[in-house]
Amino acid sequence: MPANARPATEDFAATIVHWQKQAGRHGLPWQASRDPYPIWLSEIMLQQTQVGTVIGYYQRFLARFPTLQALARATQDEVMPYWAGLGYYARARNLHRCAQQVAEQWGGHFPRKVDDLMQLPGIGRSTAAAIAAFAYGERQPIMDGNVKRVFTRYFGVYGNPASRAVEIELWNYAQAVLDAADPKLDMTAYTQGLMDLGSSRCTRGRPTCEQCPLNTRCYARLESRQHELPTPKPRKTNSERQCKMLILEQEGKILLEQRPSRGIWGGLWSLPQYEDQNGLADACLNLGVNIEHGQKMAALQHVFSHFKLHIEPWYLHCPPTRVSEPSPEQAWVAIEDLPGTALPAPVKKLLCSIKEIIEGARKNTQ
Ligand code: SF4
Repeated sequence: MPANARPATEDFAATIVHWQKQAGRHGLPWQASRDPYPIWLSEIMLQQTQVGTVIGYYQRFLARFPTLQALARATQDEVMPYWAGLGYYARARNLHRCAQQVAEQWGGHFPRKVDDLMQLPGIGRSTAAAIAAFAYGERQPIMDGNVKRVFTRYFGVYGNPASRAVEIELWNYAQAVLDAADPKLDMTAYTQGLMDLGSSRCTRGRPTCEQCPLNTRCYARLESRQHELPTPKPRKTNSERQCKMLILEQEGKILLEQRPSRGIWGGLWSLPQYEDQNGLADACLNLGVNIEHGQKMAALQHVFSHFKLHIEPWYLHCPPTRVSEPSPEQAWVAIEDLPGTALPAPVKKLLCSIKEIIEGARKNTQ
């Protein structure tokens, strides 16, 4: 945008604070406390997940792990069921490692400085600044996805928002508006206000500029260029993948397999999964069963951020004497224990929807 039309940095922060107090979000469960533990938990859950979804998970998680020490003492297997369904499971693994690190290296107290917070697993610059602002009132800029959108539109910043050059420019603006603000700026209201404005007014598809406190100075609004900003990222080709899943049932138990800790659904329990029919058939033979006696279930799909997975489930019921010992990463789980097991959301849905069929098959063989 032309330099002479660049919107002002003065009053930007004060405008956001004033608006947040009038129209921002209040009464969210994690806003009631200045304790960095629940604040940190909420910030990690809110990465990639909307507030409405997070609230229930947040409350269940805190009820089970009410303190950082309780979380640090738990095993990963105890933690994962409380994250199952939220997606992006690396967040849960980092959360657990972070709690252990804070317990061991910081005496159980989160550090106050952004630079120290950023050294902890799963905490980037923006999350560190948000925790420091909400817990300690520290004066540091944030730049999550919603806030990025506000800054690119307000200041008219073009270019791929994931590129280093644009990132640097946006952080510079975020720092400049703080430098221009009153030294007594309410950092809690400012940080919350930026997040609220990005998620409720400056939305991706239809920003409601008429209700935005920045509308008299916003570049995108004044030039009617909201639809151009942020500049769309270069399109990724979205690939499709196929897999077979085995639902092997024996005496009311299902064979599950723990996923490797890295990668899709890392650390969760899932159904044994194979690339093709040959892989499924071979695995069944290794277990001492024959997939030709199995039953193909209705296929389902799950969309990840970078590919779509087509799942073809196969159900096989067999008497106990027919199955060999499972491998070390596999375990038999009773059907009634499935709801409390850390399963990926589509697998849980699949197992719930076929529960009646499994129980029917079991009765037929009794
Ligand atoms: S005026 Fe519109 S485009 Fe500009 S920051 Fe506000 S909501 Fe976003």
